[in-house]
Amino acid sequence: MPYFDNNATTPMLPQARAAWLAADEGAWQNLSSPYRSAARAHRLLEDARTRLAALMRTVPERVVFNSGATEANNAIMAWTASALPAGALARVSSIEHPSMLASARKHFGSRLRAITVARDGRVAPAELDEAMRAGRTGLVAVMAANNETGVLNPVGEIAAVCQAHGATFVCDASQWIGRLPARDLPARAFLVGCAHKFGGPKGVGFVCFPEGAEGFRGMLGGKHEHGHRAGTENLAAISAMMAAFESGESHDAAARDERASWRDVCAAAVLEAIPGACVHGAGKQRLWNTLSLGLPRHENTRWVARLDRLGFEVSTGSACATGSDAPSHVLAAMGVSAEQARRTIRISSGWTTTRADWRALGRAIAEVWRTLESEAPGSAVIEI
Ligand code: PLP
Repeated sequence: MPYFDNNATTPMLPQARAAWLAADEGAWQNLSSPYRSAARAHRLLEDARTRLAALMRTVPERVVFNSGATEANNAIMAWTASALPAGALARVSSIEHPSMLASARKHFGSRLRAITVARDGRVAPAELDEAMRAGRTGLVAVMAANNETGVLNPVGEIAAVCQAHGATFVCDASQWIGRLPARDLPARAFLVGCAHKFGGPKGVGFVCFPEGAEGFRGMLGGKHEHGHRAGTENLAAISAMMAAFESGESHDAAARDERASWRDVCAAAVLEAIPGACVHGAGKQRLWNTLSLGLPRHENTRWVARLDRLGFEVSTGSACATGSDAPSHVLAAMGVSAEQARRTIRISSGWTTTRADWRALGRAIAEVWRTLESEAPGSAVIEI
């Protein structure tokens, strides 16, 4: 069954599963225990930390393993809100994941300012720079790649703006890591990743904190993670995450471009077959795997259900918003109307998605369109 919801989660890669099993069988002890088998497990943890630090261009001491990006975003917002001088503002992009937006609201309250995006869904560094000239900005949060549209932000330029103004930069790279090279992310930032977006297990991820944030603390309690995050480390999950991360990094630009071209051929076929359809955030600065498809008629829940029946799993948007009636806040920030947002489906491929899968999906979307259009207007079709 062609799976096109990789931005929600990905299946575990075989090498990740093998690494998980090896660690679970061979090094299951509590890493903090005082005997040699635990010390061996602890060495494996530190080895994973060193490998991750190398990929993220940082030092192992600034890598903190945790349960994933929701925890990371909450922890960073909570810690920075107390560590920054009183009155310092937080500027957070309007297209962030709810875990960033909700925790920024909670911890910064009236000190929070929204960073708007243009129709293309990107944050403009020059505008951010302008807004920061008034001073007082302590923190900027802009995600590397958006989970709904795949649009990439110019995070290198944004990091430079933050540095010029002495602000801390927080970059949620959950959708970037494993798909684009980690070395292209800014080094001087809080960087967040979560394994289940790139072929690792669910419930594990990491934060790399920047120089100067050595006091960063997530969970409080024991001295795990060099004192930065209490809680017994899940070595099996961390080992699996590292195997998946290294696999993602093994793909080159040609492989990414090829996959983007399969997606673009599918999109072009759909736009031809369905007058009035559009791609949100269309353009080169997008993840190679994502297609946010605006359709001219019929609610996205109907599209998703019909495609599911034909064997194609796509989504109406972010998995966190499933079940919510509210139209996407990401599309709203881009100036897309609420009605159009409710007619938008999110399609996201993975490394194992083939050209044939994309072609078949294009045909299926055209078929669903014909079926929905042929049904008598007003007919009460109940999607199950
Ligand atoms: N940030 C982004 C950009 C995401 O896409 C997601 C997952 O949907 C998250 C954060 C939350 O990640 P996790 O499932 O690891 O909590």
